[in-house]
Amino acid sequence: MYQIKLKVGRERSVLRRHPWIFSGAIEKVLEEPGVGETVDVLSHEGDWIARAAYSPNSQIRARIWTWDQEEKVDEEFFWRRIERSVAARRHLALDPHVTAYREVHAESDGLPGVIVDRYGGSLVLQLLSAGAEQWRDVIVESLKGRGDCNGIFERSDVDVRQLEGLPSRTGHLWGDEPIDPLMISEYGLRFRVEIHRGQKTGFYLDQRENRRFVRETIESGEVLDCFAYTGGFTVAALAAGANRVLSIDSSGPALDLVAENVRLNDLPVEDCEWIEGDVFEELRKMRDRGRTFDAIILDPPRFARRSSHVQRAARGYKDINLLAFKLLRAGGFLFTFSCSGAVDMDLFQKIVAGAALDAGVDAAIIGWLGQPSDHPVSLNFPEGRYLKGLACRVMV
Ligand code: SAH
Repeated sequence: MYQIKLKVGRERSVLRRHPWIFSGAIEKVLEEPGVGETVDVLSHEGDWIARAAYSPNSQIRARIWTWDQEEKVDEEFFWRRIERSVAARRHLALDPHVTAYREVHAESDGLPGVIVDRYGGSLVLQLLSAGAEQWRDVIVESLKGRGDCNGIFERSDVDVRQLEGLPSRTGHLWGDEPIDPLMISEYGLRFRVEIHRGQKTGFYLDQRENRRFVRETIESGEVLDCFAYTGGFTVAALAAGANRVLSIDSSGPALDLVAENVRLNDLPVEDCEWIEGDVFEELRKMRDRGRTFDAIILDPPRFARRSSHVQRAARGYKDINLLAFKLLRAGGFLFTFSCSGAVDMDLFQKIVAGAALDAGVDAAIIGWLGQPSDHPVSLNFPEGRYLKGLACRVMV
């Protein structure tokens, strides 16, 4: 068995069950494990502390599979971990109104780098790390063997793979070719999803509960859905009773699905408007024209990829939130999100508070929003918490 030995004292984070070992913590690598191979992790004193996947090209040099010396990393290991993850989603599997959710959420499900999203009978697999890549065939076999899907598609086409020295890969892996676009149900609302080429694995499953929150909160009025993608929040707002919804996104192909998703739910397309454009610019234009709304959703892409980007990201969040507050009518709602892990809830709340202050608006938080239960955050892996949001109401 290959081994890596840590520097003095660097076993501490491993013993606290943090799953990552950075290159700087390693004193020496015994023999030469290949990309993704399993290694035993030893403390400086030579004690066995964990078993991990080795990734020679990445700053995250090893990701831990297990802290149990008796536990082998083999076919059965993957079977057991996948079984455990799926079992933890039983409440979703049993809900006939929810047909799309995340079945395996990487580190926080004990499977670093492995993402499995379910869209009805189709599964989408996304492998993010060298270790996950190494066990690709075994993972696919385990998913097949469960007998609860009829097709598996791969979407390993994310930037982070470059950091691991892995090429981008997408394609049909097994079973029936999924219908494209396929249809899912989210608490009774229906959506078309393009799993072959859509963003993420096709749909922003992590916003499911927040779309429901919006649907339960607003009752009527004019709504602005910024960073709308294929209209998740647009449809939720219309279903809630919004009279008009304006959706903005920079992606034409994403916006192409908005009308279809609205129609699919028997909601009035004539009450919708789309703009393919940049949210920052469009908000400014609307401010200059004095346009106002009863509710605004801000669901931007990740502004900070790492902690060194936090300041710049903070300016971006401040900008759009300030503009949004200016466009809101008295009593209006702002649902504002950040999916930058490097920006925590405290900082995000401060940014939003600063935006309201500068906009001259008095508002209150009516909800702290986050990740749904199928996107869990292991207590030992706080980095897993990335999505956060605030629901605010402008005082009358
Ligand atoms: N709210 C969506 C998910 C949004 S993801 C849902 O519930 O499904 C972020 C979206 O922002 C993407 O669709 C991306 O195309 C879009 N985007 C990124 N930068 C943008 C910009 N500057 N202006 C407008 N849209 C942008």
